[in-house]
Amino acid sequence: MSDVMTAKLNNGFLMRPYSFFHGADGARTSRSATMLLGWFSAFGVGEGLRIGYAALMEKLGLSRSTVARRVRELRKDGKIRTVRTGGQKSVYTYPGAAPEKAHVNTPLWLYDEIFSLAGVERQLTNAEIDVVSLIYSHTRNDRNRCYKGSVREIAGILNLSEKTVMRAIPVLFAADLISRPVIGINRHKQSVFVANMQRFRRGDKKARKEERAKERAQVQLPQAVIDANAKSERDKFYAARQVRMEKLADGFLAQAKRHPRFEANGKEIRLIGMELAKAEVQAPLTVPTLQARMSALRAERARILDDQGVEEWQLEAKNHAICKICHDSGWQESDGRMCACYRCRS
Ligand SMILES: [Zn+2]
Repeated sequence: MSDVMTAKLNNGFLMRPYSFFHGADGARTSRSATMLLGWFSAFGVGEGLRIGYAALMEKLGLSRSTVARRVRELRKDGKIRTVRTGGQKSVYTYPGAAPEKAHVNTPLWLYDEIFSLAGVERQLTNAEIDVVSLIYSHTRNDRNRCYKGSVREIAGILNLSEKTVMRAIPVLFAADLISRPVIGINRHKQSVFVANMQRFRRGDKKARKEERAKERAQVQLPQAVIDANAKSERDKFYAARQVRMEKLADGFLAQAKRHPRFEANGKEIRLIGMELAKAEVQAPLTVPTLQARMSALRAERARILDDQGVEEWQLEAKNHAICKICHDSGWQESDGRMCACYRCRS
């Protein structure tokens, strides 16, 4: 990557024209697709942008599978062109016209920042980030200095449901990112939203400082090594957490197995389970007998576990996860983004 490109990539903004939020036929587009298209339209004009998945994942906080899926979709829809080059990188070209004037600006640190919201430490969702980005883009424009519009209009521009916008707004108040000096009476009436520019400047400053510190630390390393290091460090962290969960579950299982009937009981439960599935189709009359047998076996299992001082949930590894959002997998199940628990770790 050339120095010019590095500087551009680090300038800390994602710019998405309004049209990116809408599919060709008005179809819903995913948030992650708009984020990637934002990158490629900004950096992929002319000769194109040479970049690898790892850098895109890190910049936008998306999982590898999400990046891969969205790139595939964008390519299929003709929104971008890609050419594989050596190693892990491809050249991405954005063939579209130069983006129109009206666009949504997102400071990239918004994807990383942890906010304390009603006692919960979490990152903003992609939808919440889009809503605040729209308000921010208008507020930083000297002609507007605010966003004037209704919930319905915001939903229309960003291709979100009105409900999602309504849910996002109080979250953004709580995060101290916006205020609303004029309140529309309902979701159709105009409100005036103002981004808290002080808060944004603080975020920009912190992000620049972190970026500089990172650059100083990595100045000698080639990009491939940096990417690999970041990835393996993160992988190691979650691998250790998986081992921890499995160890705990194994411990409880071993304790349960000390009961002479535990394993035989488990075998019978599996057997009766299979017979039940078969009987439901082939011999419905035997189902009640089998069901009675099954409840007796389950009751026995409960007694066994009780005797051993083990609870059913303790036998399953994922129930021991420290992070209830990603279950220590590192990826949020809801939208495929990297989980905040890696950055929050003490
Ligand atoms: Zn997590």
